Amino acid sequence: MTSTLRSFVCGSFVDGDAATTDLLNPATEEVVAQFRSGGFDTAKAYAYAREVGGAKLRAMGFRERAAMLKKLADLCYAKRDELIELGMLNAGNTRGDAKFDVDGAASVLATYAELGATLPEKGNVIHDGEAISLGTSSRLLGQHVRIPIEGVALLINAYNFPAWNFIEKAAASWLSGVPVVCKPATATACMAARLVERMIESGILPEGALSFVLGQPPGLVELLDERDALSFTGSTATGTFLRSIQSIRAKSVRLNIEADSVNAAILGGDVENGSETFDLFVNDLFRDLTQKAGQKCTAIRRAFVPESLIDAVKDGLASRLADLKIGDPAVDGVRMGPLASKAAHATARDGLVRMREMLGVAASGSTERLTKPGFEKKGFFETPTVFETSVAKMPSVVNEVEVFGPASTLIAYDDVDAMLSAVRKGGGSLVASVYSDDRAFLKKTVLAVSTWHGRVYVGTKKTAGGSIGPGTALPQLKHGGPGRAGGGEELGGLRALDHTMHRVAIQGYGPMVEAILAP
Ligand code: NAP
Repeated sequence: MTSTLRSFVCGSFVDGDAATTDLLNPATEEVVAQFRSGGFDTAKAYAYAREVGGAKLRAMGFRERAAMLKKLADLCYAKRDELIELGMLNAGNTRGDAKFDVDGAASVLATYAELGATLPEKGNVIHDGEAISLGTSSRLLGQHVRIPIEGVALLINAYNFPAWNFIEKAAASWLSGVPVVCKPATATACMAARLVERMIESGILPEGALSFVLGQPPGLVELLDERDALSFTGSTATGTFLRSIQSIRAKSVRLNIEADSVNAAILGGDVENGSETFDLFVNDLFRDLTQKAGQKCTAIRRAFVPESLIDAVKDGLASRLADLKIGDPAVDGVRMGPLASKAAHATARDGLVRMREMLGVAASGSTERLTKPGFEKKGFFETPTVFETSVAKMPSVVNEVEVFGPASTLIAYDDVDAMLSAVRKGGGSLVASVYSDDRAFLKKTVLAVSTWHGRVYVGTKKTAGGSIGPGTALPQLKHGGPGRAGGGEELGGLRALDHTMHRVAIQGYGPMVEAILAP
């Protein structure tokens, strides 16, 4: 049955007034939901969120907001099954892919609840460092503090993690005391819409703390002003466009961009074929190639492998791919679903065509699809493909094109410095990973790639057993990369509050400054 999604603004669900948008099951191409964008005044929606939501959130203080996040985490766990079903129905997720998304969202909420419990009990001021004595008189002091902005945080999310991507932005905003306006990616909006419905009906959030806007209503970005923050996840093209909007620049709207990446993995020359570290590397490559059909911003796109190990890595991937069942996630045994939408599939295909023109294929998955009867010719499926080249011959397409799907490239190297230069040609990414048990190699490579990535994962035999791989963004650690990755930062513990809190220096007579800033 087709469901109808609705925006939620000014405390009410609203039916839109624009043309109907169909949301599909990407495995069958059946319409599973519909919505109409707009139907409200965006300026009024922002004013309500700022005035009602902002005031109510800030009246609570940090600890109470942290307790609210804990309740939201519990709600996410309690509604897990229905959210997972929607990921399978509307985003092409296998059950495992959808769990990854929903559990990721719940764990971000739980983590920020714990972090929030360490903040001041009352008030909305966080001291930033110690008081600084100014001049010769000890009576003159300066103190940096952070206070919540008075605006809204507009969250523009990518299609690949409808729950997690929303919550990884919202949790820190709410803890700061700032209301959020969530704009989900259209193609996979079902899960986010259900999560919003459940949050609203639970009554956990104060009025105005959460708004939800479907599609791209007029003024969505242009009506933000100097009070507000915009957090975007998506393509570099859209990120660059948002950065160029006159009102965003003229009013210095706080802008955080999480964009494309060609994340690198490096296998050390000390690693032996069949060792724990070798298997960890191949398993991580395979997971990133196939989990969410490769639609993960953190997925390994470029794998640098010593020449002597390239055949072993190819064999390892080929044997894992041989067992991979691709098809409709509703069919038993399927381990990789379709891409999330027709548009996502077309974009990934364009990238694959460009890669195929310049690169050989090292390994690929089955072209057979497990579908429901009658849907054999439907679905936005793609065959996992591992390309190969070498550092000496690497064409620029490897660094330029992020195929947002089940694709990555093995790049053989024989010289460590040349390999590190090739890694830098990615232009900045979310995460790099280095697999080795040689301390000198790890020290050299990890430090060399650090300024080009937001996070560097070290894979060794000591952690091979319990490793979650480089592809999982963790609330405790920074998520965001320099350069083409957008230059943004999300998560990273309490650092994430910086996006919705303003840093100010208060100076004057010491006892007075302390009295002003006391909770
Ligand atoms: P996209 O086209 O840039 O869309 C991302 C979001 O921006 C969607 O919500 C989209 O809404 C919205 N949007 C597009 N144009 C807009 C405009 N003019 N004004 C306001 N909002 C606008 O990206 P995508 O192709 O869906 O997502 C895939 C990309 O996201 C990949 O390149 C991937 O690398 C990147 N990604 C990055 C991360 C990260 O954390 N760095 C995570 C996941 C994905 P509609 O859906 O309504 O068009």
